[in-house]
Formats: sequence, C-alpha cells, structure tokens
Amino acid sequence: MSRVLGDDWLLPVLDEGNREFFTSGRIVLQACASCGVVAHPPDEVCGGCRGRAFEPRESAGRGRVESVVVVHHPVHPALAGAVPYAIVLVSLDDVPGVHLVGNVRGTAPDEVEIGQAVRAVFSKAALPDGERLRVPEWEIVAAV
Ligand SMILES: [Zn+2]
Repeated sequence: MSRVLGDDWLLPVLDEGNREFFTSGRIVLQACASCGVVAHPPDEVCGGCRGRAFEPRESAGRGRVESVVVVHHPVHPALAGAVPYAIVLVSLDDVPGVHLVGNVRGTAPDEVEIGQAVRAVFSKAALPDGERLRVPEWEIVAAV
C-alpha cells in the first residue's frame, strides 16, 4: 500500500479496498465472496480461489499480541517526538489466520508483551483533502 509522506504524519492512501478499514472506526476486513477467505491487507485477487469479488467481514476487534517491536529510531521526521513506541502484530480472536500491525496506545513500550490481550481503539486523523480517518490502534486489556 502506498502512503502519503506528509509533513505532519504518515497517512494511508485510500482506495476501494481499504477505505472502510481506515474510516469506519471498526475492524472491517476483506472476505472473498466465493470462498470466504479473509485477507488483510486487502488485495485485488483472492489468495484462496483467485476470485475478484469481495464482501466486508467485521471483527469485534479483540485479539492477542503475537509479536512486538519497540522503535527507537524515528523513521520519519514527524515521529521524532514519538520514540520509543511499540508496534505489535495482533492475531484476531474471531478471524483466525488474519494478523494486523499497529501502534499500542496507553502502555509503556517496555511493558508490552507477547500474549497480552488487546482491543482495537481508533485514532482520528484527516487526509489533506479533508477525508476523516479512524486509524486502528491497540490497547492492552489484560496481562499475560
Ligand atoms: Zn476466494
């Protein structure tokens, strides 16, 4: 997925496949209309059956931390004041096999651990054209 490297932040470029994920304030994934395989990030072709028709599949936004990395070097000038921060790989409780990557909100980076339960929370942002985003992030809800 391409991104807009803005002066202030890194924001996604919206398209038909990802608009609902980044604007709805819900975890809405792409499910194949033919075989039901759920893919994230969304793709133009189903990895299960090569189908090209999709339907939305909503997750309750609960999951587990499968992996965590703490970023110490800002990869963009806008992030200079944000480091260190934790990025997690989350497996969803209700959509097996699908993993999402995101920021952790509300917990010190060195306190984020593999196995912790998380829930999705959403940060508000706006694209340069004014379209409002609700970017999924993660909040720790239970220790290991
Ligand atoms: Zn399919």
